[in-house]
Amino acid sequence: MRDPSDESHGNQHQKVWEILPWYINGTLDSHEHELVARHILRCQSCADEVARCQSIATAVRSAKEGVWTPSPEHLARLMERVDRASTSAAPEHWRIRVREWIEKIRLHFQETPSLFRWALAAQTAAIVLLTAAIVWQASVAPYLLYRTLSDAASGPEPGRVHLQVVFADDITERE
Ligand SMILES: [Zn+2]
Repeated sequence: MRDPSDESHGNQHQKVWEILPWYINGTLDSHEHELVARHILRCQSCADEVARCQSIATAVRSAKEGVWTPSPEHLARLMERVDRASTSAAPEHWRIRVREWIEKIRLHFQETPSLFRWALAAQTAAIVLLTAAIVWQASVAPYLLYRTLSDAASGPEPGRVHLQVVFADDITERE
């Protein structure tokens, strides 16, 4: 024999489970908020999930102050270096595109909640690198080489593409 209240509890659990993130960040309407608040009194797995998510949310909020964001001076210097590094090798339209990307990243940094900034930056960097790799491979495949600056014979050579990854001077290892 099945208790019919089991089934309705199961349905409610599923619904509550799906809206838990909005319960935690406080954006549910009052009806749904009430539903979740009542449900987690009876459901241990939902109560545990709420506690887990709340501790993550707290950790993220407290880490916010320590998040590194590039200063205008850094960006200006980075722009300069991009310009200088690309004058020899890259065609004009590549230089402009690189500037656009940096400008876009900068705007995202200003507008996006810090939680997402690094995911966004990493994603953007990955897209830039992949796009660059595909385009450059097609045009300069025989010359495309990876080298580190510590390689003995490295240095700008005409006809070769150089991809430089530059970190800010004051960035920590963790960042
Ligand atoms: Zn539940």
